[in-house]
Amino acid sequence: MSHPDYYKILGVPKTASEEDVKKAYRKLARKHHPDLNPGDAKAEAEFKKLAEANDVLSDPEKRKNYDTYGDPSGPGAQVPPGFQQGGGFAFEDIFAGFGGRPLRHGPERGEDLLHAVRLGFREAFEGSRLNLRVNRSEPCLTCRGTGEASRKQEVCRTCQGKGKVGGGSGFLSFGRMCPDCGGRGSKVPDCPDCSGTGRHARQETVTIAIPAGVEDGAKLRVAGKGEAGRRGGGPGDLFLQISMEPDARFERKGPNLYVRLPISFSEAALGAKVEVPTPEGQQTIKVPPGTQTGAKLRLKGQGMPIPRANQRGDLIAEVAVVTPAIHDERSKELLRELAELNDADVRLQRSAT
Ligand SMILES: [Zn+2]
Ligand SMILES: [Zn+2]
Repeated sequence: MSHPDYYKILGVPKTASEEDVKKAYRKLARKHHPDLNPGDAKAEAEFKKLAEANDVLSDPEKRKNYDTYGDPSGPGAQVPPGFQQGGGFAFEDIFAGFGGRPLRHGPERGEDLLHAVRLGFREAFEGSRLNLRVNRSEPCLTCRGTGEASRKQEVCRTCQGKGKVGGGSGFLSFGRMCPDCGGRGSKVPDCPDCSGTGRHARQETVTIAIPAGVEDGAKLRVAGKGEAGRRGGGPGDLFLQISMEPDARFERKGPNLYVRLPISFSEAALGAKVEVPTPEGQQTIKVPPGTQTGAKLRLKGQGMPIPRANQRGDLIAEVAVVTPAIHDERSKELLRELAELNDADVRLQRSAT
């Protein structure tokens, strides 16, 4: 099949850039568009020729084939019937420029995936290995992730080669650019194995090491366990959004742990050694004589591990003095006696400090 001189039709030299081709086509297509020349068969024929010329010269691969072999489909290729008449153009292109939706081209990285993970205090303290069932995708082996059956172009079925869908007739009721072929009217057929998506869904168990001391709200990245890439693009990543179940005993602030430590009135006054819970069991802590409610007693290095550092935060015991509930006469007597011996004004003391 012989092809007309596409350069002559668009009035551009063989050295014309892609931009020059677009400009020339836009200018001529406006002039000869059938909607602007109703009933003019000559204009319509002219317009079809323009569209065909543009289809070839604006596509680097087709243009190269045309320049080399005189045929946009390459050496000895069969041009599918209907392709020549299709005149792949999108009317909105003429006005909106040639931006449009990009056709399948370069590699595209896969999407990231996000999973929410809720951890108990133990798991966060010790770190854990998590086996997570993830719905992700792998590249299609048949088409190597391209989504295309072969390199050969076919008339787009969605728009029957018109390059646009919907709309109707008349100047202002032009359709949308065909989403399947990007307005070209032709495309490489979809890979039958993956229906053109270039990938297959699968379920995978991903084992993730949660570092000891991981914080509430942390986002952990597992490289390469997101969705498959397209056309040779790398996979996306899997992200874990960590949230913590509250613990009955320990309140966490960064690497430090806070625990409430109730002590008796006499322990507070006289000082004592009392037991305090830590993540690794009970420990003895020294309460100095005269300790008040709200005092903070610190056990260094007994808090949460700091991820990826060989270090731990502190455990802070917050003292709450429990006032004795006295019912018997003997105790009341002793307390009155005590009050007489220690008659310092506690309110005055507070204002003085
Ligand atoms: Zn495929
Ligand atoms: Zn189409």
